[in-house]
Amino acid sequence: MAANATLKALLTSCALLVGAAPVAAQEFINVYTTREPGLAAPLFEAFTKATGIEVKSVFVKDGLSQRVKAEGDASPADILMTVDIGNLLDVAEAGVTQPVDTPALKAAIPANLRDPDGKWFAISLRGRVLYTDKDKVKADAITYEELADPKWKGKLCLRSGQHPYNVALVAAYLTHHGEAKTEEWLRGVKANLARKPAGGDREGARDILGGICEIAVGNSYYIGLMRSGRGGPDQQKWGEGIGVILPTFADGGTHVNVSGAAVAKNAPHKEAAIKFLEFAVSPTLQAVITQRNMEYPVLASAEMNPIIANLGPLKVDPVSVVDIAKNRKRASELIEKVGFDN
Ligand code: FE
Repeated sequence: MAANATLKALLTSCALLVGAAPVAAQEFINVYTTREPGLAAPLFEAFTKATGIEVKSVFVKDGLSQRVKAEGDASPADILMTVDIGNLLDVAEAGVTQPVDTPALKAAIPANLRDPDGKWFAISLRGRVLYTDKDKVKADAITYEELADPKWKGKLCLRSGQHPYNVALVAAYLTHHGEAKTEEWLRGVKANLARKPAGGDREGARDILGGICEIAVGNSYYIGLMRSGRGGPDQQKWGEGIGVILPTFADGGTHVNVSGAAVAKNAPHKEAAIKFLEFAVSPTLQAVITQRNMEYPVLASAEMNPIIANLGPLKVDPVSVVDIAKNRKRASELIEKVGFDN
């Protein structure tokens, strides 16, 4: 018994010694993200695997820039990740990011999808597209302008006009056409509604199958989420039951919004943070990210999820997302003015 205990103690101390052997300090970066942790996890894991740099992520649901601002010089944040161009602009304008300029980032990301001073970068895109009744909508191309055409009277489904996805679309319309035409368009679209604006984008697909509408406006990634079965069997039926058209502006492309990231102003690990951004827009990672979240890659050549690739080629609207973001307030006022949700 005694010998056994001694042996056990010896083994334990050996194990402790091995465990305590000096190892190089693990390099790491701190990522503050407003994205659901599950969506960003594959990116973090792949980055660590490729570089040995660990990613410590902090999920910040609200008030990202306020938090980093409050932390000041001592902020441990290296990377700030968020969704929606408005949120990216907010962090840049709050002064909590720093300019970054590297050839790899410039080569991968089109100029209209990154800050000219490098204070934020888009990583992936979501298109605002049309879900359609396959049997009744025979057109293979529809412009956003045409949604106000009386031929669609009583046939459109949308969620609330004031939802950020629709506000951004109206802001894009403003960027293309100015105020008077945007107001006229909004009145036309409202006149074409099949029901009061409600629900989420996926309910548009549901209501097409329910025979309530023929066209619904929704984000592109929901098609992937529905058709892949990730949203459950009901949604899979909705996703598979609808047709999809990637609409464009008459003088442009498909309206997109972005998910993106920036290097934090006081990043303690700036070099590793830049490496992280470059990694995120590399071909392999662009494929990993978009396979997972069903968004479009910002790197046009990256491999897409087949469900999304099957929607056809995306022609991104060339107007600056920054200009769109600046028009959001005016867009929201116009949506209110025409009583879109009433
Ligand atoms: Fe969404």
